[in-house]
Amino acid sequence: MPRLAYVDGRLTPLGDAKVSVEDRGFQFADGVYEVVAVLNAALLDWPGHLTRLARSLAELWIAAPMSDAALSMVTARVLKANRIRDGLLYIQVTRGAARRDHPFPSGVRPTLVMTARPFDFRQRVGQQASGIAVITQPDIRWTRRDIKSVSLLPNVLAKQAAKAAGAFEAWLVDDDGAVTEGSSTNAWIVRDDGVVVTRPLSNSILAGVMRDTLLRLAGEHQIRVEEAAFSLDEALAAREAFLTSTTAPCLPVVRIDGQAIGDGQPGPVTAKLAELLWLEIERQTGFRR
Ligand code: PLP
Repeated sequence: MPRLAYVDGRLTPLGDAKVSVEDRGFQFADGVYEVVAVLNAALLDWPGHLTRLARSLAELWIAAPMSDAALSMVTARVLKANRIRDGLLYIQVTRGAARRDHPFPSGVRPTLVMTARPFDFRQRVGQQASGIAVITQPDIRWTRRDIKSVSLLPNVLAKQAAKAAGAFEAWLVDDDGAVTEGSSTNAWIVRDDGVVVTRPLSNSILAGVMRDTLLRLAGEHQIRVEEAAFSLDEALAAREAFLTSTTAPCLPVVRIDGQAIGDGQPGPVTAKLAELLWLEIERQTGFRR
């Protein structure tokens, strides 16, 4: 069955789906996106993704392409047409197509594109048991990382460096030596006193939907969390480290730049948080590992 992409109101075979060469997403990375997990044919944390999409659009003065209710209907159509049971939904909204010129064009409709593809979330269960390695890279991104912009070149370069080093992810380190986040994940450590630490929301990081869900679950289960910046040195000295994202709900980080974290094995606090996340995923979607 060919995959179908939604482009400005129509479902089209993916290979034929097109936007204009003058689309501002292509010309200027003038657009935003969301990646949403689909498990057991249900969207995970959909309201959180809708809220973040609306915020990203508003920060860039891009008009919403349609109401949240309409967007939800289109989403259901895309998932159904592609027969997605476990997968990833990609939504991109750009300012639209117009003669190339830096200022915002007037009278242009935003471009809305959606695609969906199968994704095997069960592979994460094995990675959770073994843990994953990260490397570090300087954070060379712009200072509005809170906007989920399609301008991802520094993230792409960092992820490629991780891949070349045989690592799962690159953690990005700012000029002060503090870890901001991963190239496509949020970063966490468990300090020696057992407190879980992750960087507070600001322009420096993306407000991960999985981060938000995990903070809520930790609060509900009396797990102590501090939203505070931590340095790379603190991460290397941490008892445990882990990362979160839509595509990797909660993975233990057992090596940073080749150095073992704690005893080099996934730790109990990370395992507990991962368990809480999988239970929440099951509660929302019925998905079982
Ligand atoms: N940080 C960055 C830079 C990201 O690109 C992502 C996801 O793509 C995340 C964090 C995690 O966000 P979420 O949990 O919403 O997937």
